[in-house]
Amino acid sequence: MEISELIAASGNEGKIREIQKIFKGARIIPMHEAGFNEEIEETGSSFRENALIKAKAVSRALGKPALADDSGLCVDFLGGAPGIYSARFSGEGEKANRELLLRRMKDAHDRSAHFECAVCLYFPDGRMLFGVGRTDGHILEQECGKHGFGYDSLFYSDDLSKSFGEATEREKNKVSHRARALKDLMEKIALLKQS
Ligand code: IMP
Repeated sequence: MEISELIAASGNEGKIREIQKIFKGARIIPMHEAGFNEEIEETGSSFRENALIKAKAVSRALGKPALADDSGLCVDFLGGAPGIYSARFSGEGEKANRELLLRRMKDAHDRSAHFECAVCLYFPDGRMLFGVGRTDGHILEQECGKHGFGYDSLFYSDDLSKSFGEATEREKNKVSHRARALKDLMEKIALLKQS
């Protein structure tokens, strides 16, 4: 299986930048640059289902292999929310999402949380491969650090002993849910290459 070029089925620049840094062996082209500008409705009930919906839609439309990530923050005190609804939590963008999370966590006795990620690589002939990953930590009482995107400044990473907002891109990419999911996928691709 030779893959030289992959379309990233995402409009999130933060995610695409991380995928480009982590995924080895293929050039990653953002879907907008490849001419895909449609909204994809995420109607799945899991990260895996949503990753498949996005990768399949882009791969079918462009006739090229596409890689999608679906990810989110799962907070124990909130029963796993916002989970697959992380991007749409407040309905008003990432800053409002962080503010809403802090309000919901105001009286939380347990602040443990994890990020989860599923990636799907979909080929125009219908073949597909998945990778999954998670990273553990807790929700801070206030934002800390300016790096990253989404909930990074509110997430204290157990692996790094600092927030993702304080971590460099390189540090985050060693332990993140996305890095682990992509590593899982790369291992599956390597196995297929051997067979
Ligand atoms: P998706 O595009 O439906 O997968 O939405 C993922 C959402 O989860 C993003 O918009 C962020 O709010 C959040 N998220 C996922 N991964 C990360 C991360 O690495 N850092 C911070 N927030 C993230």
